[in-house]
Amino acid sequence: MRPPEHVVRALLDLPGPACAYVYDTATLRARVAAVRQSLPVPASLLYAVKANGHPAVLDTLARECDGLEVASGGELALALRAGARRIVFGGPAKTDAELTAALDAGAQINAESVHELHRIAALRPGAEVVLRVNRAGAALTGSHSMTGTPTPFGVDETQLPAALAVPGVRIIGFHLHAVSNNLDGHAHAAFVRDALSWSQATGIHPRVVNVGGGFGVDYLSDTAMDLDPLRSITVPRGIDLIFEPGRYLAADAGWYAASVIDVKTTHGRTFAVLRGGTHHFRLPAAWGYDHPFTVLPVDDWPHPYPRPSATDTDIDAVGELCTPRDVLCRGRHVTQIRAGDLLVFGRTGAYGWDISHHDFLRHDPPVFRIL
Ligand SMILES: *Cc1c(COP(=O)(O)O)cnc(C)c1O
Repeated sequence: MRPPEHVVRALLDLPGPACAYVYDTATLRARVAAVRQSLPVPASLLYAVKANGHPAVLDTLARECDGLEVASGGELALALRAGARRIVFGGPAKTDAELTAALDAGAQINAESVHELHRIAALRPGAEVVLRVNRAGAALTGSHSMTGTPTPFGVDETQLPAALAVPGVRIIGFHLHAVSNNLDGHAHAAFVRDALSWSQATGIHPRVVNVGGGFGVDYLSDTAMDLDPLRSITVPRGIDLIFEPGRYLAADAGWYAASVIDVKTTHGRTFAVLRGGTHHFRLPAAWGYDHPFTVLPVDDWPHPYPRPSATDTDIDAVGELCTPRDVLCRGRHVTQIRAGDLLVFGRTGAYGWDISHHDFLRHDPPVFRIL
């Protein structure tokens, strides 16, 4: 899909050869508003910082959402700098320094083990915490299942009595983040209903039920997950139902663009070689799929020598790294592609730059444009 015109203008304005992430704050704001329309009332909407921790993204989402979810001391510092009204802190290997910083900042802590509960009790006697539970059954299908299966996250249901018996902390609710990239809104609604009823059945009178993130984005189509089935969920009085999506809020607000440096055919396959690659946008390599792109033609060719090009053919969009694994998209049909044109990858605002191995081969980083 061609990006919106204001994004196209920003991309064509980049110094060449271009390599950039463009983040659009208006898209972020619109997405938060749309998600709120679909959530049950009342519910709290936090943003999971790990999807994209760019300060401009955090400034926008700290304002638009009810708070931020962080998973490290570094993210905590970013969230504080962004002025988050509310912070929730999770993660399986918190250090004492991180726990202390989070407690000092008034963050709500999602404890991940019985041992962590003991540590929190020692650091801050009487602290209120939310306990992350890895439920007995697989709650949802998606790309990374985190419950009903062995993971480093949370305690098993069978460990609940031991967790509740830890002296010096009060468990005020549960954190039940279960999946990443679920695309089925009805299944997600069923998961949230089940999370609420399970939490109440524990008998602790939970004040918090955090159902995590996991709203999905289908990178291979232009469609969005339909969250509307969530709206009819009844939230029991006295429970703060928390959603903390990352991908769904940020993905559509980012575009990764890179100039075509060369177009070449070897052993019968045609490659567009980019000023960029998986060290900036690792998601397709990490997940093993082909991320769609749009060609933005750049007609200017100021050189006396022939312009490399290909027409009406399938190409592989590959990066500048010296490894055959530096592939963003395989076998995508283009009507025309030339050296100097710009390839634009949409839906790259989440888990793009933030999960990539930036220093491999030491190429210059992309520029970041905030719209
Ligand atoms: C990663 C994560 C999220 C966000 O997940 P998305 O799939 O990006 O929505 C939310 N909560 C926790 C605990 C996480 O680890």
